[in-house]
Amino acid sequence: MSDFAARLATTINVLEKIAADFSPAVFASSLAAEDMVLTDLILRHKLNIGIFSLETGRLHKETLSMLDRIKETYAYEVKLYKPEAEAVNSYVQQHGLNAFYDSVEMRKECCRIRKVEPLNRALFGNKAWITGQRRAQSTTRAELALQEDDVAHAMQKINPLTDWSEDDVWHYIRSNNVPYNALHDKGYPSIGCEPCTRAIQAGEDVRAGRWWWENPESKECGLHVVDGKLIRIKSV
Ligand code: SF4
Repeated sequence: MSDFAARLATTINVLEKIAADFSPAVFASSLAAEDMVLTDLILRHKLNIGIFSLETGRLHKETLSMLDRIKETYAYEVKLYKPEAEAVNSYVQQHGLNAFYDSVEMRKECCRIRKVEPLNRALFGNKAWITGQRRAQSTTRAELALQEDDVAHAMQKINPLTDWSEDDVWHYIRSNNVPYNALHDKGYPSIGCEPCTRAIQAGEDVRAGRWWWENPESKECGLHVVDGKLIRIKSV
């Protein structure tokens, strides 16, 4: 928790700089705790940054209810991007509704249809996008930097909470009365689609409940990976 005030000030400064230098910029919110911190900062400081979420069709009801809570709290409507119905139907008909349990390839194909393709649509036309990723979240994010050159989307990708700890996130949420996903109180530190996320036990890695049947190294959905690698970085 030491230097939290400095980390918060830096984060606000980064968000202000994004709004000023990279307009139009968007924030991709998964509606989890980190993303509620960024939502609160963006809306509290009236920053010119759009907020969207990927409605995959497989989210928990607790996650979906966050959309109403954001509307009630901030009078702001998060923009939703959904997968193409034809692609979803084709996958389900060919492989089954829950074929993502069968192999990493089937899981990645489901993520491609339900997350990656809608993300590409959501990002189109912007100069930068923002995520709530933190270094401490998983082995796949250990080298995460504040700013990455997202070559695939031809824009900058900025992770303003890179240095934040989990304690920082919850300190901000509790100090500012920020609404948060009820699943966090039920053992879900990391939240994704319902069939691919489970609660974790004390002492487990915070992302252990995501795609728990896979190796830790494969646990990304394709939103933060280009050509099989986490995308490279430079400072803001
Ligand atoms: S997280 Fe699971 S249900 Fe959601 S898009 Fe990926 S594989 Fe499909």
